Amino acid sequence: MVNRRRFLGLGPLIGLFPSLAFRSTQPQPTTTPGPTAQPGPLVISTWKQPKAHAAAQAVLEQGKRAIDIVEAGVRVPEADPNDTSVGYGGLPDRDGRVTLDACIMDEHGNAGSVTYLENIMHAISVARAVMEKTPHVMLSGEGAQKFALANGFKKENLLTPAAKAAWQNWLKTAKYKPVINIERHDTIGMLAIDKAGNISGACTTSGLAFKMNGRVGDSPIIGAGLFVDNEIGGACATGLGELVMRTCGSFLVVELMRQGRTPQQACEEAALRIVKKQDYKDIQVGFIAVNKQGETGAYSIQPGFNYTLTQNGQTQVTDARSYLKK
Ligand code: ASP
Repeated sequence: MVNRRRFLGLGPLIGLFPSLAFRSTQPQPTTTPGPTAQPGPLVISTWKQPKAHAAAQAVLEQGKRAIDIVEAGVRVPEADPNDTSVGYGGLPDRDGRVTLDACIMDEHGNAGSVTYLENIMHAISVARAVMEKTPHVMLSGEGAQKFALANGFKKENLLTPAAKAAWQNWLKTAKYKPVINIERHDTIGMLAIDKAGNISGACTTSGLAFKMNGRVGDSPIIGAGLFVDNEIGGACATGLGELVMRTCGSFLVVELMRQGRTPQQACEEAALRIVKKQDYKDIQVGFIAVNKQGETGAYSIQPGFNYTLTQNGQTQVTDARSYLKK
């Protein structure tokens, strides 16, 4: 099963070693530049996603639109039974149901989203169909499934034996505490700049493992889990969706870039907004961002968040900077 790491309670050590404490009592974004500053096509995503990037890069090289690139990329973990946070193989809610959330946004500001979607593997493609074939942005639950089936998507059981066993094991204690980092995979948020210089994004997840039945996170919410403005840039979030929703996280990152912040500064400031206003000590939120110039940024509250970047044909996984240190 997945290798999960929990944040260690450092409280008692902080008195002895102040350097373990937060960087400042009054959160301030750094002025350091983003990890990259090269124009041209690129793909960036949350967490370690080399297979998703290989699929995305293949579509990028064909000269297709950024929306095709991100859709192709995130479909990979959606179909992977070993990825326990996305699509097929995703861990269920506490009633044993796998419910998917996803959204997508193109360079024209069009958006599509599905929430609480059951039994359809590629939630992202259903979200795209909502965007392209309906007058709406978001479909939910039974209605989303009905729409998917009417549009040729196949109904299938997404609860793998491994995910079912994990749920049955969880039921023994039924204690609910979101896990801070899921190191191998997590919600995938992906942003791409295509060869024409246009930006699109996609975000897809099975949500928090063992969530309450009916819970919807930030991932399918335009402006929370994902936001793209082709004039400025795009951003995606991962982590505890409730905190991202309360702060309109991805929209905030893009708006900060509009005001002149680099993607790195914008991700930092959005994370610090959460730190300032919410009880963040036991939770993780991470952001990635890209601007129109092809600069990228990534930042999280807790250490342990990483992101994947493909640029000039090279794919690299990098640990994001974080507010709290290891
Ligand atoms: N943000 C997702 C949610 O709250 C979870 C995640 O990123 O893993 O559903």
